[in-house]
Amino acid sequence: MFDTHCHLNFGTFDGKVDKVVDEAKKVGVDEIVIPGTDVSTSKKAVEIAEKYKGVYAAVGIHPHHVFEIFQNNRSSATQIFQKTNKTEKFSFASDLKSIEKLLNNGKVVAIGEIGIDRHIYQKTKYPDYKIEEEFVELQKIVLIEQIKLAHKYKKSLIFHNREAKKDFLEILNSHQSLIISHSAVFHCCEPDFELFKYAKDHRMFIGVDGDITYYKEKPFDFAQGKQEFIKTVPLDMLVLETDSPFLNPEPNRSKEGGTKNEPKNIPIIAEFVAKLKGVSVDEVAKRTTENARKLFKI
Ligand SMILES: [Zn+2]
Ligand SMILES: [Zn+2]
Repeated sequence: MFDTHCHLNFGTFDGKVDKVVDEAKKVGVDEIVIPGTDVSTSKKAVEIAEKYKGVYAAVGIHPHHVFEIFQNNRSSATQIFQKTNKTEKFSFASDLKSIEKLLNNGKVVAIGEIGIDRHIYQKTKYPDYKIEEEFVELQKIVLIEQIKLAHKYKKSLIFHNREAKKDFLEILNSHQSLIISHSAVFHCCEPDFELFKYAKDHRMFIGVDGDITYYKEKPFDFAQGKQEFIKTVPLDMLVLETDSPFLNPEPNRSKEGGTKNEPKNIPIIAEFVAKLKGVSVDEVAKRTTENARKLFKI
């Protein structure tokens, strides 16, 4: 099986990666992609990937962390808003250069995670985090630059979209020629028919996570919506992901909490998807692994 999205590069896993990779392999999760969220976690993703067979890295700047660039460039915010798009003017030009350097490493299979994010995070390292339109405009510029990098280096794309479907699809639509077919994934895809249709029409994959198992909370909630959504997504479009350490699947979450997820939990997601779709776990495991290899050209 293949965990297409797992943050072994985050602090929670410091000193534990050997054990976590080993335990994943023991239950048949032989391949893992570690996405970066800024320059330092991207570098760390590459370092970890170099140590283990079957472990790969993605590198990129997550839209949430574009906030750091935004804060450093407030004086240029007007220019950003006017989309002068002179990237060299902003401090993220050096971040992009650092990301670009990492693309020459053979273990780097994708640019990610990148995208647009309008969610107001409760837990964030930025004390005055808020969603201003100038900030979202900068997220768009950083996203476009990274799509261009993926095209230049023929890397796949891991897209993160949260509560920003309209902006996100607008960017994809206007840069579709740069995106190679079967080489992009809507990671942790929101249950939304428009996103599904876009992915289907443009031969992109849909990532499904452990939050699909969060079914006990309300009579009809987000998770149930997600379950209905995944039922409609054909198996040849699906890839499995844990988004570790987040989104611990049930029943683990009730016992351990939400941020103790590990790639060894991929079989729980596979089993859940199999039940939803009325197919065997083996079928889900086999097909999603094939899809992930196709997505990352492995
Ligand atoms: Zn994400
Ligand atoms: Zn992530």
